Formats: sequence, C-alpha cells, structure tokens
Amino acid sequence: MSVLVVQGLSKSFGGVQAVGDVSFAVSPGEMLALIGPNGAGKSTCFNMVGGQLNPDKGSVLLEGKAITGLSPRAISRAGVGRTFQITATFGSMTVRENVQMALLSHHREIWQFWRPVAGRHLTEADALLAQVGLEAQAERATGVLAYGDLKRLELAIALANRPRLLLMDEPTAGMAPVERVGLMKLTRRLATERGVAVLFTEHDMDVVFDVSDRILVLNRGVLIAEGDGDSIRANPAVREIYLGT
Ligand code: ADP
Ligand code: MG
Repeated sequence: MSVLVVQGLSKSFGGVQAVGDVSFAVSPGEMLALIGPNGAGKSTCFNMVGGQLNPDKGSVLLEGKAITGLSPRAISRAGVGRTFQITATFGSMTVRENVQMALLSHHREIWQFWRPVAGRHLTEADALLAQVGLEAQAERATGVLAYGDLKRLELAIALANRPRLLLMDEPTAGMAPVERVGLMKLTRRLATERGVAVLFTEHDMDVVFDVSDRILVLNRGVLIAEGDGDSIRANPAVREIYLGT
C-alpha cells in the first residue's frame, strides 16, 4: 500500500493558481523527488501535505486515512515528519538534548518541557545520533555546529518522531555540493532501513538523479512529467521548461 496518496490537490492564492489538480503516490522506502522551477508550486504541495496550508480541492491520504486539512500537529502525530528550509533547533542545548526533546515530544511527554531532559530517552537519542554520524558531537551546543552537521541533526530530530513519510523541502539549501549528496544518501539509507517514504525537493539535478527512485516535475502548478532519472533526463518538455536545453 502507498504511504501517501495525493489526489487532485489544488490551491490558489488571490485567484492565481499555485497548484492545480496534482495527484501522486509514494511507496514505503521510496525516495520521490518533486522538482520544478522557482514558483512551480513545490512548497505549496509540501504545505498542503504537512497541514500548513488547507487545499482548495483534493485529498491527502496517509496509509489510507484522510489527513486533508488537519492541523500540522495532528498530521505530525499521524506519521508525517518534516524538515524545514530554515533550521529549527534549540541553540543553547546540546545536540543530544535536542534529540531527547524530540523523543519527549514523540512519547507525548512534552509537558515535561520545563524539567531537565537529562537521562530521558538517552539510549534512543544516542542510537539516532549514531545513525546520522553525530555521536562525536553529542555533547556540543547545537549553536556551534557546522551547517552540514545541523542538517544531519534535523534529520535525526525528524526521525525521532518515527514518521511514515518524511517531507524535505530543499533540505540541502546552503550546503556545499559534496555535503548535499552526503545528506541525501544518508537520508536514502535510513529511509530504506526504516521503510520511510521520502518526498523531497532539490535544486541540484545531479543529487536528484543520484538519490531518487522516481521524479515528479511540476511546472506552473501542474505535473508535466513523472518517471525515473533516465526518462526525466530524456523528456523534451522537461528539458525545455526545467533544464533550459
Ligand atoms: P516553489 O516552492 O516551487 O518555488 P511555491 O509553492 O512557493 O513554489 O509557490 C507557487 C506559487 O504560489 C508562486 O507563484 C508563489 O508566488 C505563490 N505563492 C506561494 N505561497 C503564497 C502565499 N502564501 N500567498 C500568495 N502567493 C503564494
Ligand atoms: Mg519552495
């Protein structure tokens, strides 16, 4: 069964259609790239799946259950994890504490926010940090992390919620090319291991072709192509509209 099914999703802003009648599905463990030029409607799609925006039309099903128009919190609880274009961690807390906070939230213990997080979910936090390669940084303040490490911490925090679907809107923005591939290959490996479906956007086409199982191309709010890297590379409409060749 698909983890995510999106059917006929549409959204207009002030009479201008940002997304029109978009339908697609994502399978467990699949890396699905949503690409397209700036303003194509990618973030609007992410925000409708994540609950930050209400669709005008269409439905969003997570493992067969409608989550259309629910609050971001309810959608997160239902199993949709998210990393954002802007990093959102607590800078004065250590790397490990940030993951512990995420685990507290996942285990519905966020009411203990004001209590010291020391000792809570330590084993699980350290396991997650090891999985993203941050075990050596566990004791450091998040605020002093290198940007690429911060991105991997965000991945650990998103995974702490045990999502079925992970939404990543430009996760590698601001990273050096070699780091981009590294982050997305790590994401791919963890997604495969855990059977987590990943929907992501990425401007670097080399990274897209390298890590995607499948690619969707959005242009002016409409899906114009879908397929594997080879078929997308060879698609004349994609070449003209997106790759500019
Ligand atoms: P992408 O992420 O592919 O760059 P977006 O989804 O951000 O594209 O934007 C799609 C279109 O919708 C653009 O024309 C953008 O200007 C418009 N848009 C997005 N969000 C809003 C908003 N909150 N209010 C008005 N227009 C918006
Ligand atoms: Mg965007």
